[in-house]
Amino acid sequence: MTTLGRRAALLVIPLLGLLVGCGAGDLLSGDPSGDEADGTPVVADQRLAAAIGDVEEFWQEEAGALGLDYEPVDPNRVLLRSELVDLGPADCSFDDGTDDLTAESVADNAYVISCDEGETVVLDDIGYIPDLRARYGEAGVAVLLAHEWGHVVQNQLELYEQSSILAEQQADCYSGAYIAWAESTGREPFDDPESLDDAILSTIETADELETEASDEEAHGNGFDRVRATQEGYDRGVEFCRSYDDQPPPVTQIGFAAGDTSGNLPFERADDELLDEVSAYFAGVAESAGGAGSAELAEVVELPDEAFLRDLYDVIGDNAIGAEYALAYGRAVQELVGDPTEGEGPALQRACLMGSWLHAAIEQGPDAPAGPLSPGDVDEAMLVYLVSPELEGRPGLVFELLASLRLGTVEGVDVCALGR
Ligand SMILES: [Zn+2]
Repeated sequence: MTTLGRRAALLVIPLLGLLVGCGAGDLLSGDPSGDEADGTPVVADQRLAAAIGDVEEFWQEEAGALGLDYEPVDPNRVLLRSELVDLGPADCSFDDGTDDLTAESVADNAYVISCDEGETVVLDDIGYIPDLRARYGEAGVAVLLAHEWGHVVQNQLELYEQSSILAEQQADCYSGAYIAWAESTGREPFDDPESLDDAILSTIETADELETEASDEEAHGNGFDRVRATQEGYDRGVEFCRSYDDQPPPVTQIGFAAGDTSGNLPFERADDELLDEVSAYFAGVAESAGGAGSAELAEVVELPDEAFLRDLYDVIGDNAIGAEYALAYGRAVQELVGDPTEGEGPALQRACLMGSWLHAAIEQGPDAPAGPLSPGDVDEAMLVYLVSPELEGRPGLVFELLASLRLGTVEGVDVCALGR
């Protein structure tokens, strides 16, 4: 085996797992906004205001396809945390009482609430939005807004009985439909194809914390589900998202055993066990694809160096190691069966092969050599594309890599078309 050096310096990625709810952040920065001159709060953050305007326009164009006569959100009912700090709590009345919307209630979050005063969108412009912006640029913010406006549409359609996970998956799907629309109409930031990568990666990071069950009242889905819903909306549009109500999406369709959300293994153990598991898996793949075995594979594979893996482990989690090994062995198998290894097509095939290893590990359940896989492990595998050398490809490629990875994860290795 040889060792392939990687550019560990690329690892300037944010801490993961800070985001919960309809999202939550941790950094306290950003400017207070809000124009108090006439007592009417408006969104003073120009980029935020423009992004909201785009999402409103999207729904004015698209809601008809859902049979909805869409009503824009009253700008006075877009409440920012900074305004709630400056002006005090805002009223939100219901038939049976009043709820104060306070600065605290929106800290590190974003949500939509149906008040008698009107449909109300509450956004943390002090913590959450600047945090998203720092990590994913305006694409991360746009995805959040499009998701929240998806909830606005659900409320206008009076879909109050939806389960949390269905509502969240549908909001993600609408968000994907929005991204496609913004791209096709040349809206910022989606006039730059790189935004597509930022957008899709941001949905993984805002996934549920690992202990959340799909039936949880607050469930949003794991990153795998969120990527699927967003990509379905992107590919198929708002009517397909609406069809979730009749045909619920296959949430965690890859069938994790309940409760297997164990934390990270220590680095050395994860490194050893995942290398064993991944190399054994790909030896089997190589044998069935072309007759080569583990000895030939060991000759060809170029493993990532340990410092790179340690950084990934620290920032993403233990299964980022497995994912990198899967990419390395995927490349070796491509070489052995005579498939090309350079360029976009081979990168997409490697993503599929990485997914096929996840598929096999999920099928093995507790019997997998490195232990059972949890939804968090799959999210960690997807997140290697934050820093993977495959990123040197064309902007927008990460979006496709994740689609290919999902396909391999759901369908298994046959769909990766090795040696064909
Ligand atoms: Zn939501």
